[in-house]
Amino acid sequence: MAELALRFYEELNDFLPPEKKKRQFVHPIDRKASVKDVIESLGVPHTEVELILVNGRSVDFHYHVKDRDEISVYPVFESFNIRPLLRLRDKPLRELRFVADSNLGKLSQYLRLLGFDCLYRNDYADAEVAEISLQQHRVVLTRDRRLLQRKIITHGYFIRSDQPKQQVKEVLERFDLYNDTAPFTRCVNCNGLLLEVDKDDIIDRLEPLTRQHYDDFKICRDCGQIFWPGSHYERANKLLEEFIPNSD
Ligand SMILES: [Zn+2]
Repeated sequence: MAELALRFYEELNDFLPPEKKKRQFVHPIDRKASVKDVIESLGVPHTEVELILVNGRSVDFHYHVKDRDEISVYPVFESFNIRPLLRLRDKPLRELRFVADSNLGKLSQYLRLLGFDCLYRNDYADAEVAEISLQQHRVVLTRDRRLLQRKIITHGYFIRSDQPKQQVKEVLERFDLYNDTAPFTRCVNCNGLLLEVDKDDIIDRLEPLTRQHYDDFKICRDCGQIFWPGSHYERANKLLEEFIPNSD
């Protein structure tokens, strides 16, 4: 039997019951355990954790806890420089790509609208999401913290809000993506890239009014849907203003 003194910082407290939030608490354990097991047994997905200090020294997930260890657990920081300390992951994913859990359809569409690569299907099983994340090095977005506890998932984010627009803000903030948006480069329906297309090549697919009023078109490389300014872009621009205040 050992007793640990634990404290979780910042948004990691979202996962804890009130009596454990934002304070040091004593946590008894009755077996050998890695610090990762201890953290996840308290309901905090390992993918949310960036830095663990035990008695002031940084450790990795495999560290075996000992009696009277004082453990501080920190979330992913975007601004605070912790580089001198050991990070739990070698490096951030080179190019940020997402796979969204089956109940995050609207969020996926919004992320695609902003140009981010986000796979989504409404019939994804948990195992499938985890496998895609591993194979394609994609960050898992989910409202299911048990999914993030799967071992093979190294990069994930637990979406707090159940409001799609708020969810977009969470993702933009968490991954510091405000400067990386590329609107109208990706198909909201299927995630395919949009390519410029000559009006002449698609003219037989256009409604008369669209044919009359617009000259610039893009086509989805994967599903063939056609996009143009006017309805598509205007609606999208309104959304963009909400997501990215102060943008023109
Ligand atoms: Zn498409």
